[in-house]
Amino acid sequence: MMKSPDDREFRNRERFQEISEERSRGELDRALSDAEQFSMAASMILRASGDNALREGLERTPERFSKAMAHLISGYSKTPEEAVGEGVFQAEGNGLISIRDVEFYSLCEHHMLPFWGTASVAYYPRKKIVGLSKIPRLVELFSRRFQVQERITEQLADALVQLISPKAVVVRVQACHLCMMMRGVEKQNSKTVTETTRGVEKLSALEAKRLLQAVGSSGVD
Ligand SMILES: [Zn+2]
Repeated sequence: MMKSPDDREFRNRERFQEISEERSRGELDRALSDAEQFSMAASMILRASGDNALREGLERTPERFSKAMAHLISGYSKTPEEAVGEGVFQAEGNGLISIRDVEFYSLCEHHMLPFWGTASVAYYPRKKIVGLSKIPRLVELFSRRFQVQERITEQLADALVQLISPKAVVVRVQACHLCMMMRGVEKQNSKTVTETTRGVEKLSALEAKRLLQAVGSSGVD
């Protein structure tokens, strides 16, 4: 049977009505799957924009948005232990280990707009090291959520302390934020830098300097 846009419009409206009743009874979570909630939210945004949400280009947008979101916030579903799996090994020495410029994409929790950049990690191991390919997994884990850059930085440092308790670790994150670039102050080329350390006070001045230099930090800012 052919469905006219009017039918669909009517069914959507009925469904919205049902949902607002369910929501007022606190039953929304049970009433809709996550995918349905994302899709419904996208429909509402399109509707509120004043565009015709049923025109060809937008018709399947809520469904596409829902699928994209499932990927963009997939970092909620794992713990750091699960993300590194079998990737923790005995240290062979105690020299500095670093990985530079691991790319990431995240969503700012204040505007739900993308921010993206790179994370660099350096540490002096104690007894254990983490496979270098696992650090990008951790970056992925923490960035695929609604986030603030500072928290990604802290969570990476804490995860490494928790997984391998290194003698010292530094994490430096640089990112561009669409909520700054597309709106508000519209600073097109500004990069935000966040940095955190654990255990640096246990290092000699030379070791501390080398640790910070390994992530591109001068240690003076
Ligand atoms: Zn923002």
